[in-house]
Amino acid sequence: LGGLFDAELAAFDELGIEEPTKPADPFLAAFRTEKDRAVLVEEFENVATLGGVTDFELLDGGAVHGLEPALGEDVSCGVRLHGQRFIDPGRYVTSLAEAVQERGGEIVLASVAAVDSQGSGVVVRTSTGPVTADAVVVAAGAWLSELVRPHGVRAFVQAGRGYSFTVRPESQPRGPIYFPTQRVACTPLGQAGSEDAFRVAGMMEFRRPDAPLDPRRIAAIVDAARPMLRGVDWEARTDEWVGSRPCTADGLPLVGATRTPGVHVAGGHGMWGIALGPLTGRLVADQVMQGRTDPLLRSFDPLR
Ligand SMILES: Cc1cc2nc3c(=O)[nH]c(=O)nc-3n(C[C@H](O)[C@H](O)[C@H](O)COP(=O)(O)OP(=O)(O)OC[C@H]3O[C@@H](n4cnc5c(N)ncnc54)[C@H](O)[C@@H]3O)c2cc1C
Repeated sequence: LGGLFDAELAAFDELGIEEPTKPADPFLAAFRTEKDRAVLVEEFENVATLGGVTDFELLDGGAVHGLEPALGEDVSCGVRLHGQRFIDPGRYVTSLAEAVQERGGEIVLASVAAVDSQGSGVVVRTSTGPVTADAVVVAAGAWLSELVRPHGVRAFVQAGRGYSFTVRPESQPRGPIYFPTQRVACTPLGQAGSEDAFRVAGMMEFRRPDAPLDPRRIAAIVDAARPMLRGVDWEARTDEWVGSRPCTADGLPLVGATRTPGVHVAGGHGMWGIALGPLTGRLVADQVMQGRTDPLLRSFDPLR
């Protein structure tokens, strides 16, 4: 996936939606020890070997605290990543939906029981009645397998559940902050320096996607993040949430045609569904509309 970086960002620019991606400046990864940091640096070196882009610099304690005063006392060193972007997830998704409607698309809220071929097209059986189409793209996240197994997709998608909540730090950090050792990622949702919302997320829990939120997981994220940030009232957190990353066994997405004409799949992106979403959309659209399968899709064949 590392080699897709340039194509990914270009696809975001092509979306032309109201809520833009924001430059992550700075985007910091922060660590307790240099030994912890070496793990991430090694990961970046591996990505570079595979053709990925890893533009970063190492920061000592003074430099990382100078760049981000909200970092806690336990942080002793960091990594600054260049050329990254981030989003406000809620506003981004709303903006995507609005763009679909502005361009003539209709959004139907319904649950889908099955996708079947019908004549030369496809019928989607929904809780509000059948919908017929020339082509269908099934993008059902962690619930994908059941809908596409009848179309020859044997790869299983399971939920890798992540948790998040919102806090309001005394001073809003300037950019996203990642604590790789703690597996916690934080995203500012408001203006730098303000008391706006700061989204804290982490955890990889393998349970069925509809299982209830487990408060112990939230507590574990709080315990991990507390010493790494200052000026946060952790007890005043809001918006506790659990959601499912759609994970495949080989870690690669499932994108492309199934054995049923007109039924396509876009899913299984695991931890990278936001970053890879626009590129996935463009590649699937090319396949559906022009019958052209981009060589980039070769590794993501849903029938593998
Ligand atoms: C805490 C957390 C942090 C993350 N951070 C990042 C990040 O920093 N960068 C990144 O790139 N990715 C990130 N991800 C991963 C990203 O959110 C997912 O990869 C992405 O949402 C997957 O998109 P999707 O459309 O395949 O599935 P989803 O977003 O799960 O959407 C699938 C939709 O289909 C609906 N659906 C399912 N079955 C049916 C049915 N039968 N009928 C009707 N509707 C149905 C579901 O309700 C859902 O709305 C994160 C995930 C989590 C949980």
